[in-house]
Amino acid sequence: MKYSVLVETYEKIESTTKRTEMTAYLVALLKIVPPDIIDKVIYLTQGKLRPDYEGLEFGLAEKLAMKAVAQAVGTSLKDVAAVVRKFGDLGSAAEHLLAHKRSVSLFDFMGGEMKREPLSVERVYDTLMKIAKAAGEGAQDTKVTLLASLLRDASPKEARYLLRIILGKLRLGVADMTILEALAIAYGSGKGSRAIIERAYNIYPDLGYIAKMLASKGIDGVKQIRITVGVPIMPMLAERLRTPEEILNKLGGKCVVEYKYDGMRIQAHKKGSEVMLFSRRLENVTHYFPDAVELIKRHIKAQEAIVEGECVAVDPDTGELKPFQELMHRRRKYEVKKAMEEYPVSLFLFDALYIDGEDLTLKPYPERREHLSKIVKETERIRLAEYRLVSSPRELEEFFEQAIADGCEGVMCKAITPNAIYQSGVRGFLWIKYKRDYKAELADTVDLVAVGAFWGRGRRAGKYGALLMAAYDPENDVFRTVCKVGSGFTDEELEQLPEMFKPYIIDHKHPRVDSKMEADVWFVPAIVMEITGAEITLSPLHTCAWGSLKEGAGLAIRFPRFLRFRPDKSPEEATTVHEIVELYKSQRKVIAERA
Ligand code: ATP
Repeated sequence: MKYSVLVETYEKIESTTKRTEMTAYLVALLKIVPPDIIDKVIYLTQGKLRPDYEGLEFGLAEKLAMKAVAQAVGTSLKDVAAVVRKFGDLGSAAEHLLAHKRSVSLFDFMGGEMKREPLSVERVYDTLMKIAKAAGEGAQDTKVTLLASLLRDASPKEARYLLRIILGKLRLGVADMTILEALAIAYGSGKGSRAIIERAYNIYPDLGYIAKMLASKGIDGVKQIRITVGVPIMPMLAERLRTPEEILNKLGGKCVVEYKYDGMRIQAHKKGSEVMLFSRRLENVTHYFPDAVELIKRHIKAQEAIVEGECVAVDPDTGELKPFQELMHRRRKYEVKKAMEEYPVSLFLFDALYIDGEDLTLKPYPERREHLSKIVKETERIRLAEYRLVSSPRELEEFFEQAIADGCEGVMCKAITPNAIYQSGVRGFLWIKYKRDYKAELADTVDLVAVGAFWGRGRRAGKYGALLMAAYDPENDVFRTVCKVGSGFTDEELEQLPEMFKPYIIDHKHPRVDSKMEADVWFVPAIVMEITGAEITLSPLHTCAWGSLKEGAGLAIRFPRFLRFRPDKSPEEATTVHEIVELYKSQRKVIAERA
């Protein structure tokens, strides 16, 4: 299959502002892809070669990619650098250079074109894979040579996309859910297929693999997909409620209440002496937490296991739990060792999803916890989350107070009914969080996605004055706006915003964004921020929950304030429109009760 077919689809996707069109282009592409390379097409369309959790990187810095362009075009590195400065990015620069080279003289043009072997998807994928895998001495040169060879045969447009992939900047904004939908339309058999594909994705989030099963074995093949040690599972998520009474009502009068630790969620996979750790976003974070790896290796008795818990930095001198931010230092590779000495982590485990060949996700929570307690050799550093069985609001409140006193942010209330399974990838009421937020009037903070920006004035001239923030609507896979946030940023953060968003700027509203406001700058939905606010109100300006509570109105957050960036969340993990509606309703209930 020709690579140019993919590139044509990318161009169409980039030019549309309608999500339905975007999906339709994908469906049209998927329908003509030969089944044996459908996985490659999916990965390439997402700007990668393998699912993210495998952590495969090209390891080719921009400078070296420029060198490859220079080689392919037959010019100097300095010339390439000059064109990059003019066009802003290497992809567009390469496109320009190739187009120019092939048109300078008829002789060159004919010669060049005649020798050019049109790129196939297979060759592109395989060469990119070789680039990623080249390691050891001379690897950099090998990578450059391989890339240059691809570029020599690439059309100018193809070169633009190849370089964007290599530099991790493809950014078509095609999310996993969009691809799932396109797959269900292109290959699914009837109504139920979307649910089956989604379940498979939740327990085995490798879209290339799922697409291949679907294209080669049909929906029955997808049904055969199983939980596998080494492949992360989409985490189960919690809803929230405002009072212990509401929580107990929802959970049938009694539940387990656990400390809600303020750390980083970790899904640990153990296979013999091998341990892998995945974040909430399913990134492989094993190398950031060598101390946690050791804990799992030594203290989980099962041969094979997948367990979940919260990883928390602890002050070794006082035993105090440190706040979430401390763990962020671990994200910088060179700081791991230092951070590990300063604040080693402790693990508070709260779930077991798989043990020695047995998938536990469909077992009720008490049974999963029982299994978990049997395989953990507890110490100070690795323990089961503190918990209590409660059946009255008073007991719940007491335990909550104790959790706060011990440095936690609240509690997690968990259903113990026979249907309390592990709902992979689902946010439901089987888990309910109960937090105290002193600062905000809202029952909870929200995590929103930046979809656009407005230029500032006065002191903020030349900087962003406010960002247009949106909640996620999973049913339609779009982002709907809910506020403009301009406060809460430090001067330094404000200064950095334009630079930070630069790679995501597009010249029109992204097809997955639903907005009535016209932003000055539009972004590919990518960056998630935690926002607090005074209250949620009906608003004619924002599209979140448009028309569902009142005709001609959506929901907006009043007096929103930026709290922090959430690099651990993907845009699809932002607060949903449904959650905003629930927050709005619970807030109205509280107001009614007070009145
Ligand atoms: P969410 O994960 O629900 O999207 P979030 O990351 O903003 O949102 P919260 O909503 O505050 O976090 O709470 C959920 C998170 O709490 C879990 O993802 C997990 O990391 C953490 N957590 C801490 N203790 C527990 C526990 N005992 N059981 C389950 N989760 C816990």
